[in-house]
Amino acid sequence: MQIADIQAYNLSSPLDPPREYQLYNGRRRILKRDLVLVTVETVSGEIGYAPVDASSSVMREFSNDGSLDKFVDVIERAIAPSLKREVITSIKTVGKIIRQTRLSQQFKSRSIAALDIALHDIKGKQNGVPVYELLSEKDEITSEVPLYASGGMYLPPVEMAAEAKSIMEAGFKGYKYHAGRGPVEDREMIRRVHAAVGDQIDIMVDGHTWWGLEQRSYDSNTIVELVSDHEEYGVRWVEEPIEPSDHERYASIASQTGVPLAGGESKAMPEDLIEFASVGGVDYLQGDVRQHCGFSGCLRVIEYCRGAPVTFVPHHFGTELGLIANAHLAAATPGTPFLEYPIYEDDSTSGMYPNPLATDILSSSLEIKNGMLVLSDKPGLGIEVNHDVIEKYPYVDGPWTEFVS
Ligand SMILES: [Mg+2]
Repeated sequence: MQIADIQAYNLSSPLDPPREYQLYNGRRRILKRDLVLVTVETVSGEIGYAPVDASSSVMREFSNDGSLDKFVDVIERAIAPSLKREVITSIKTVGKIIRQTRLSQQFKSRSIAALDIALHDIKGKQNGVPVYELLSEKDEITSEVPLYASGGMYLPPVEMAAEAKSIMEAGFKGYKYHAGRGPVEDREMIRRVHAAVGDQIDIMVDGHTWWGLEQRSYDSNTIVELVSDHEEYGVRWVEEPIEPSDHERYASIASQTGVPLAGGESKAMPEDLIEFASVGGVDYLQGDVRQHCGFSGCLRVIEYCRGAPVTFVPHHFGTELGLIANAHLAAATPGTPFLEYPIYEDDSTSGMYPNPLATDILSSSLEIKNGMLVLSDKPGLGIEVNHDVIEKYPYVDGPWTEFVS
């Protein structure tokens, strides 16, 4: 295929009014969610789509060049000029070209992800097959992907337990909540959530690094004790009790507790995920096609996991386009236990903040039956992107979240 054009659109879904959540030692305000929608068009007229998880404030941290602090600029100014008119015989070649740029590792990985996803979408459309069929070397594919619901945004323990119950009743295979209101409330949370759902669904607890985030941290002994205290409830995993950049400390927490740990979403490259897993502190490795060099990058990580005592579980926290992309990966790799499904406010099961862009981005509704996402057998990603979102959700500058006290 020959690339004719590459476009990127910076979109924001603002929260009006912003939401505030009580956390240990402060409050967190969420102002908006950002998305960069990337389109790739071939000279023969096919269009491929990719979502990029590109929160504005996070992107600035990733920039190693002051003129490129928005991901749309990275795509339009650093990536598109070198790939326009390029004839693509192998999608992996694009990754090699982008790796040679001087972008930061995080920008490289996300740029490769965007092109890799969009080009797989196009390749599927050209060949008349869904992406999950392209990805699978064997015939071990499924078009139904189990989901776990990801919600519980720092709710008081009683509300968390009520949400867990509604998630279970909606048929989801698991419930992950975001803890971080302080060690006392976090203990009450797991006790109440477990009392509400028992062992009928998996429970996952996301510390989201807040348990170990600089001056807001719980102290080291408390973190180890708190992780340990989740063991009696049989949680599937505790996620990011601390910053996962500290591999040795992660491994130390794992060795002192009997609770499986998860992490990986903040790693830059597929090789960083593999290195993290190889240290031995993580039982569930959370790659994301939007962040870790697309399908090609995540398949490398999954291949590593097949020979190691670690399970790949796709991370996803964004729009339904990103969910679909990660679902194609999960559908092509049957060892994947389930996929993260963020529950936003307009969903009847939850009270997490609203994110209407998450659903508006697709022209039709997802098919979710009894906690299973049913993928279409249409070619490519099998969905239609609603181009109206480009007008409807203009970019809003500024941070997407902040601590307010
Ligand atoms: Mg997480």
